[in-house]
Amino acid sequence: MKKSSFSLDLLISTILAISTMEILSLLNEDRTTLSFEFFPPASDGASEDLFTTVNELSALHPAFVSVTYGAGGTTRERTRRVVQRIIEETKIPTIPHLTCIGHSREEMTEILNEYAEDGVKTLLALRGDPPRDCPDYDRSQDDFQYAAELVTFIKDHPHDFTIGVAGFPEGHPITPNRLVEMDHFKAKVDAGADYICTQLFFDNHDLYDYRERCELAGIELPIVAGVMPLTTISGMKRMAELAAGSRFPAKLLRVLQTVQDDAKKLREAGIQYSIEQCQDLIEQNISGIHLYTLNKSRATRQIATSLNF
Ligand SMILES: Cc1cc2nc3c(=O)[nH]c(=O)nc-3n(C[C@H](O)[C@H](O)[C@H](O)COP(=O)(O)OP(=O)(O)OC[C@H]3O[C@@H](n4cnc5c(N)ncnc54)[C@H](O)[C@@H]3O)c2cc1C
Repeated sequence: MKKSSFSLDLLISTILAISTMEILSLLNEDRTTLSFEFFPPASDGASEDLFTTVNELSALHPAFVSVTYGAGGTTRERTRRVVQRIIEETKIPTIPHLTCIGHSREEMTEILNEYAEDGVKTLLALRGDPPRDCPDYDRSQDDFQYAAELVTFIKDHPHDFTIGVAGFPEGHPITPNRLVEMDHFKAKVDAGADYICTQLFFDNHDLYDYRERCELAGIELPIVAGVMPLTTISGMKRMAELAAGSRFPAKLLRVLQTVQDDAKKLREAGIQYSIEQCQDLIEQNISGIHLYTLNKSRATRQIATSLNF
């Protein structure tokens, strides 16, 4: 009895170890991978809309999808439910984002245990930002100050999670000194990160320069590039607000400006810009392209189809 249960345990852990490698080995292949990002919807209706999107996009066989997390745990349950349901219904490898700001070590252990139970193999480990409506938020008492500490904490968990971390091709606004920022980033990688997923950017030169700066710092992890199709002027303004510090290159603004009074043409121009951006990333052998879907499938499908994914 003991012998067979030992063999079963061994078999299960071997299977787990193989599937843990799944996303990483895809990212390490020569071919650029495609993946999608969703956010946890606030209502039941929006949740059904999201699952229509997920089902439509699953036909594109993404390498993985990811689900964002409300910093401070505001979407803890909702993120988990979306992750569970995507895994159950589609079998697509699903990566929950996890922020550490405002979470105690005990809460973090509970969250990691839950995800281990759900069969989650990979996490995107983030710090998160203090809530916008609490400018005086005091972080000094937080158990985790930076994402590097979360990476170390996840590494110490008995479940062997693959760990992604956030990268900022245009720089992170809180650390204007880019040399110091790279030192912080290297510390996060050295804590045990397995891959990098970047903030959105609109000029590929920023990504290539970032990739080179990572190499010079001795960081050789696969880089998944965050690409956001802009389909409306209001969407662009919202992004400028949310991804603070993002650079909107003149080339993109010129393209959108010429069609700004025609919603349909503007949408097509924004999508075409993303297609060209992705084509160039593929030619430059970037490990992965991560499309920010905003829980909608149309623009994403159009881009993926043009790229022959
Ligand atoms: C791909 C991606 C996905 C994201 N998903 C989410 C999400 O789901 N939910 C959410 O709330 N937010 C999300 N964010 C936003 C992210 O949480 C914020 O941008 C946050 O400000 C930075 O997170 P980080 O993990 O890079 O933090 P860190 O790596 O901790 O870095 C944050 C800042 O602190 C500095 N720093 C790091 N270590 C030190 C140190 N030892 N001393 C001094 N300074 C230091 C860094 O240089 C940087 O400026 C995402 C960002 C990206 C790029």
